[in-house]
Amino acid sequence: MIHVEGVTVVYPDGTRALSGVDLQVDRGEFTFIVGASGSGKSTLLQLIYRELVPTEGRIIIAGQDVAGLPRNRVPHLRRNIGVVFQDFRLLPDKNVWENVAFALEVVGASRREKYRKVPLALELVGLAEKEQSFPHELSGGEQQRVSIARALVNSPAVLVADEPTGNLDPEISWEIVQLLTNIADRGTTVLCATHDRVIVDGMRKRVVSIVGGTIVRDARGGGGYDEP
Ligand code: ADP
Repeated sequence: MIHVEGVTVVYPDGTRALSGVDLQVDRGEFTFIVGASGSGKSTLLQLIYRELVPTEGRIIIAGQDVAGLPRNRVPHLRRNIGVVFQDFRLLPDKNVWENVAFALEVVGASRREKYRKVPLALELVGLAEKEQSFPHELSGGEQQRVSIARALVNSPAVLVADEPTGNLDPEISWEIVQLLTNIADRGTTVLCATHDRVIVDGMRKRVVSIVGGTIVRDARGGGGYDEP
């Protein structure tokens, strides 16, 4: 589903954030991307949702070379990739239902489609009863569930989560990561960047470790934060 081939990223100021990165991720696979702050995790995820293009190398998502994609095709790609951030990024003036519906509106979905898909996405994250609530009325964990519903409402092939538990208590972090693994079990390919050692050690999923912009370890069969 995801092929990263010989990718290097050098930012305009000369910072080399990634060097010679190769990564293959299959459909429905759940993968942690781990590494210290500044190691290049975010940069790698931004390449996948095409917030960035590589200086060298290729990024192929579902058979499509995303770096070479003309600008007018980027919205189409984004429909196929859901993104979840540490700080949720919900719209404060819209309620839960409207926040999720917004992801459908930006891709031109009909009213009928919204009324069909939004309840399904909220059901999936266990928030059907909160559809009328506003973000400030929700806990951090609930806000992250809304952002996951928003990322999933277009039924993307790939879900990218950048430190999704960074602002959450340990117990809630478990629930969120569990939800992300359930989503992978349903066939969505999930990449989750984190430096939460306890969660990674507890889940025993595939772990890709980045140090200084290079993949130093890939525990494909599942592993802990440090050990295979
Ligand atoms: P992580 O997500 O693991 O914390 P990042 O991918 O954010 O790491 O950063 C990798 C490296 O690239 C760091 O040295 C960081 O300072 C640098 N970096 C990130 N974004 C930019 C940018 N827009 N311009 C210049 N350097 C950047």
